[in-house]
Amino acid sequence: MSNDSRHAKTPLIGMNHSDLIALCHQAGVKPVHADHILASVFRRYNTNIADIPRIPLALHSYLNEHVSMFEPTCSAEQLAADGTRKLVLQMPDGKAVETVLIEGGKRLTQCISTQVGCAVGCTFCLTATAGLTRNLSAAEMVAEIMAGQRISGQKVSNIVLMGMGEPLHNYDAVKQFLNIVTDPKGMAFSPNRVTLSTSGMVPAIYRMLEDKFPCNLAVSLNATTDEVRNRIIPINKKYPIAKLMQAVRAYIQERGHKRVLIEYVMLAGINDSIEDAMRLCQLLEGLNCTINLLPFNPYPGSAFKRPDQSTVHAFQAVLVEAKLIAIERKSKGREISAACGQLITEIRK
Ligand code: SAH
Ligand code: SF4
Repeated sequence: MSNDSRHAKTPLIGMNHSDLIALCHQAGVKPVHADHILASVFRRYNTNIADIPRIPLALHSYLNEHVSMFEPTCSAEQLAADGTRKLVLQMPDGKAVETVLIEGGKRLTQCISTQVGCAVGCTFCLTATAGLTRNLSAAEMVAEIMAGQRISGQKVSNIVLMGMGEPLHNYDAVKQFLNIVTDPKGMAFSPNRVTLSTSGMVPAIYRMLEDKFPCNLAVSLNATTDEVRNRIIPINKKYPIAKLMQAVRAYIQERGHKRVLIEYVMLAGINDSIEDAMRLCQLLEGLNCTINLLPFNPYPGSAFKRPDQSTVHAFQAVLVEAKLIAIERKSKGREISAACGQLITEIRK
């Protein structure tokens, strides 16, 4: 923490274990109290400093003076018939982000936004049309989870970084966020239940490996030729498919052959042919992966169309025939614009 933290208070929920130990040190109390803060704030979701038990009075007053306990206000909440819940959260500077809670069997998966908007500019994605406003801080991402659990009244079991934004464009804050949510003394999410999705930032994928990010990797491949991928994901010109697949293979190898998720948005007449399916089989040959087929979710003004169901099935059949695991992701929450690529509403305000 900086010395001027008296003026700009640091949000407590953006601190990881070592930050909390440093804080205890500065407050002149034993480092063990970092564990008490973790247990109360991150494990039991207590959002009131006065209610943190088992910490000395000196630490209470230090916290009151130096840290804040911000909780975003929920400015809109929508619940779809399938149980999908979309929350619009207003951050302290007035900027809004969307987070989505998706029910599925015993799971409650929360889709987290990492930026307000996105700078990547994929031509099929509604979030892209707004451009990038700013990065979210680790505290703001943690706050999304706290609000999700509080408002839904349920325990979130899985986290996916698949909301607004390119997580690897906000590398340091996302790293801190992952560190906080997977801390066994705090929120204690198993790294197997946390998945980061990237549009293909190749150098950052290697960095994730070096930094041992505690999460699974998902890659939005979305095309099988550079010609098509250049058109729909502009950063492909910088990091073409071959380089991306090399990084994915390195990731799998280094991580003890952990499975990666390959996302494939299906755009009618663009990347949904049988030839595409066959090329995809070649690209993924021998790779420990699951493929999520995401039929395009249309939005007003978009140039793309959703393929019909028979095209999706024929495409999937080619992959299954090649012994790949390919799942069509049924878009949940479409009527409340909570499905993939439909997150934007409040950024434009
Ligand atoms: N920026 C990251 C994570 C957020 S997007 C990324 O691109 O990977 C999450 C997923 O939604 C991505 O796989 C993306 O390709 C997909 N997506 C975006 N717009 C979509 C749309 N309109 N219909 C279906 N999927 C979409
Ligand atoms: Fe950004 Fe992902 Fe949308 Fe591309 S698909 S513009 S990377 S949020």
